[in-house]
Amino acid sequence: MINGSTKIFGIIGFSLEHSLSPLMHNYVFNYMKLNCVYVPFPVKRDLKKAIIGLHELDVKGVNITIPYKEEVINYIDELDEKSRKIGSVNTIKFTDKKIGYNTDGIGAIKALKDGNIEVKGKKVMLLGAGGAARSIAFQLVFEGCSDLLILNRTKERGDKLAREIMEKADFSCKSMKLDQKILSEYIHDVDILINSTSLGMYPNVNESPVPKEILHDELVVFDIVYNPLKTKLLKEAEEMGAKTIDGLGMLVHQGAESLRIWLDIDPPIDLMKKVLLSHLK
Ligand code: NAP
Repeated sequence: MINGSTKIFGIIGFSLEHSLSPLMHNYVFNYMKLNCVYVPFPVKRDLKKAIIGLHELDVKGVNITIPYKEEVINYIDELDEKSRKIGSVNTIKFTDKKIGYNTDGIGAIKALKDGNIEVKGKKVMLLGAGGAARSIAFQLVFEGCSDLLILNRTKERGDKLAREIMEKADFSCKSMKLDQKILSEYIHDVDILINSTSLGMYPNVNESPVPKEILHDELVVFDIVYNPLKTKLLKEAEEMGAKTIDGLGMLVHQGAESLRIWLDIDPPIDLMKKVLLSHLK
């Protein structure tokens, strides 16, 4: 029950109607008997005022989602080293200061590890160069992938990400336009294919970024889209004999990392997956 000692956490973004984070975090708080609550805070107008207000109201921490992960950096006091390099923040811890972190990339790596996939020494093709792709790209480099090829619809955005990775992580990666010709040319020399575009996400469930016929059985295909869990890309990858990993693991692990940052707890990963799975089904 909420009382005068309840610690408040939440998520800011716009819009938040479909966010699964309140379900996941409140489940953990109940299960672990923590006097905490997790609330959606839709920010329609002034992000700066919202951040100052949350801090003043003694909210202990928030997640940040679309469209504020980059803008929010302007309104916090400190960034941990990773989020500074990545250039986006999905978690703030409020103490006497506002401290920013990014747990998306580590969430993705842990999802791969759950599927027994190690990134070290692997050749990775990353589709997308948006907020999620940015965190995943940096984390892949931190984890020691051997090659990284970024393919994005808007080539300039992919080029910018590749340049930043060179400057901030001293790692040389290629960036090209996401099109069928380039996919066909490079996909046979790749160990792990990661879709971090929104292609295939509800309601556009009949879209896939990769034509079925070029998928192959030596690939690991990881799609971070979680609605639906089995995207067209994953269905077709499975049919072509590839190993597949869906977006649920990343969603749970990025949330679990936020909880570790805020409360120094060890959240029940398997139960969190179960709760979200039953909701998504
Ligand atoms: P974002 O910043 O808006 O980036 C969207 C990306 O998708 C960009 O690279 C964009 O390319 C590309 N894209 C969009 N429509 C496209 C189309 N029709 N054809 C080709 N490329 C297209 O979004 P985000 O935050 O990175 O999220 C991307 C997806 O990941 C979403 O589906 C989101 O739900 C999912 N996600 C999952 C998790 C998880 O925990 N599993 C976490 C975060 C995000 P341009 O640059 O050309 O626009």
